[in-house]
Amino acid sequence: MEPAATRILIRPGRIWCGDGRPAQTGLCLLVDGARIAHIGPISPAPQNCDIIDLPQSTLLPGLIDAHSHLFLYPYNQTSWDDQVLTEAEAYRTIRAVRHAHATLLSGFTALRELGTEGAGYADVALKRAIDEGLVPGPRLKVSTRAIVASGCYGPRRALFRPDCCIPQGAEEVSGADAIVRAVRQQASYGADWIKLYADYRVGPNGETQPTFSKEELHAAIACAHDLGRPVAVHATSDEAMRRAIEAGCDTIEHGYNGRRETFALMARSGCAFLPTLTARDAISSYRHGHPEDDPHSEDMRQAAHAFRMALEEGVLVGCGSDVGVFEHGTNYRELEWMVRLGMSPHEVLMSATAINARILRCESSFGRLAQGLCADLVAVDGDPLSNIAAMRRIELVMKDGVIYSQHERH
Ligand SMILES: [Zn+2]
Repeated sequence: MEPAATRILIRPGRIWCGDGRPAQTGLCLLVDGARIAHIGPISPAPQNCDIIDLPQSTLLPGLIDAHSHLFLYPYNQTSWDDQVLTEAEAYRTIRAVRHAHATLLSGFTALRELGTEGAGYADVALKRAIDEGLVPGPRLKVSTRAIVASGCYGPRRALFRPDCCIPQGAEEVSGADAIVRAVRQQASYGADWIKLYADYRVGPNGETQPTFSKEELHAAIACAHDLGRPVAVHATSDEAMRRAIEAGCDTIEHGYNGRRETFALMARSGCAFLPTLTARDAISSYRHGHPEDDPHSEDMRQAAHAFRMALEEGVLVGCGSDVGVFEHGTNYRELEWMVRLGMSPHEVLMSATAINARILRCESSFGRLAQGLCADLVAVDGDPLSNIAAMRRIELVMKDGVIYSQHERH
């Protein structure tokens, strides 16, 4: 009996490797087991391998979203407060399993999960189930519960009678000792990253205010780094961004109100930026009722201004959407926003593959198409380098050499 083919030869119309070069034609990619064995002009096809012909398609590295929430779903279906307050962790986990599958089928083969938002350590369990092949999903880097200053997150206690016990969307701490304890505990339960909230809408009239002191941020980040965990910091205000960058954080999330000097500081410090443009657009549309993908809303004008300053100052810009705020499996919207606000499709695809892999400290495993790397790849109909909307038309998704989705076109 013939041994089953473990090798797959893919013959795409063009191939874009995520190594800085433009797309190339006339090349094939050979997958052997879970790895990329060869990229080059292969003819004739080697013996004993399956062949996938995709002459109209572009083959790319599997996409990475560096800011996701699989344990949330769009707030216009169920408000964030209601998800956190009324839905059991088991129910939210079942949803997360479905969200992970939808994400993988849309071509995203890796995510950095930035907090379960009240679902405890369930992201560690989901990651394990995916790694063991129990359920299909992207590779996950997880940050478990996330850490907030006491009383500085949600659901807002002031909305309830004071003797109510109100579940919170993250772990609350006060003081350097307590924040260090939380970092150590979350790391011990399986956090790959530590997520901190350096500001939140906690002013007397809901204004965004810094939440952690410089001392607390320094203590948390030093402790996380000692444990080999990079730190992602939620910061929308300039003051919180500056405090977090000066304390040595690895990524800033959102940054909608950052000033030019702060982005310049980020560039000098090597701190990466995840602009989460789609979440900004989605929340603005839920609040104000305007259609989604509207670059003229006040919220988006502000985010666009910060985004462009970050680019001008040479900040390392990754692709992180904050999906969960909007529908899982539509992460491609973030790529479209980045192009809409001034990056080229090539630059955006670099952010969503090789640069994100670098931010995740995984560039030697995935994020590019190169011999020896994990066979995480996606084929799309058409040429996303000329029109990024092609990323909506997924033809093939492979992770670790396993095909999860394949559309035949006749
Ligand atoms: Zn988020």
